[in-house]
Amino acid sequence: MDVKLTATEDMIRQFEDLFVNRRAYTVQSMKPHPESGRHYYYRPTMKQTREPLALTAGTIQRHLEGDITIAVYAINPKTQRSKWLAIDADYRHALEDLLKLQGELRRDGIQAALEKSKRGAHLWVFFVTPVLAREARLYVLNLADRLTLPVKGSGWPEGIEVFPRQDRLSEGEFGNAIRAPLGVHRGAGKRYWFYHADYDLESQFRYLAGLERVSEAKLRHVTSGMSIPEQFAPPARKAEAPRPYLYTGGEFRILDYVEVKRKAGRNYWTRCPSCAAAGRDTSGDNLAISIEEPLKYKCWAGCTKEMIRAALGRPIEIRRLA
Ligand SMILES: [Zn+2]
Repeated sequence: MDVKLTATEDMIRQFEDLFVNRRAYTVQSMKPHPESGRHYYYRPTMKQTREPLALTAGTIQRHLEGDITIAVYAINPKTQRSKWLAIDADYRHALEDLLKLQGELRRDGIQAALEKSKRGAHLWVFFVTPVLAREARLYVLNLADRLTLPVKGSGWPEGIEVFPRQDRLSEGEFGNAIRAPLGVHRGAGKRYWFYHADYDLESQFRYLAGLERVSEAKLRHVTSGMSIPEQFAPPARKAEAPRPYLYTGGEFRILDYVEVKRKAGRNYWTRCPSCAAAGRDTSGDNLAISIEEPLKYKCWAGCTKEMIRAALGRPIEIRRLA
């Protein structure tokens, strides 16, 4: 099988050059969640200090070789920029919609690479130098509007997801990560490749190296006069509760794993990850997180801490008494 492969130093460098916007990253759990069967992503930490791990060449190598699977964040918080634009689609007519989008990009003279995923595909556009997340989103949301594609989170139950998912990050925010290409999807136990090259690392990297990248000037040119289509202007985001980022010396911080939906009373409220894994809490307000003591959280549908932690891929370690 193609799960275990060898990555060269050149490949690792090229991967970093193409996909890595910041050193924070997430890892897909090797074991499925016992109830949902899904392989969730979590932020890896040092065993001793619980400090978050930073992405290294060694980590990238293990990803490419198939030992682990990582996801990469879309925005560098220092610059609010991204090296790429990725569109994720995994619904019934996902591939059809992505091909339409690829065609529309081509009309603007922009090359986009299509990568298979478990239930659909990802479409990638690479930039010569990192561009503002806001400008990349402005462009793709206008294309989606022009093609009347469904966009997740704008009233459609399913649709394309655009990465970067935010125009900018606030202090301490990470935004959203997408499964990095060329690795093994743990849920499927196999690799998904870019369509237009042979299915081996060397051919895939050669294909990626040959893609024409988009300059910031070109992006500004194609977006000139554009504004965010009204349907995508996110009122929810404006109402989003301010989200504190507290470094608490290695404890589990639920706020690192969930996106706060609203603030009411003495709590933040959002969808309970354990309920979500079971397809429940569609209204997204079962989980309360204390504003004053953000390490405290509670699911009002009765999920235990153990269930919530397991759903996040960060199971509570059972300490054995000597
Ligand atoms: Zn719950």
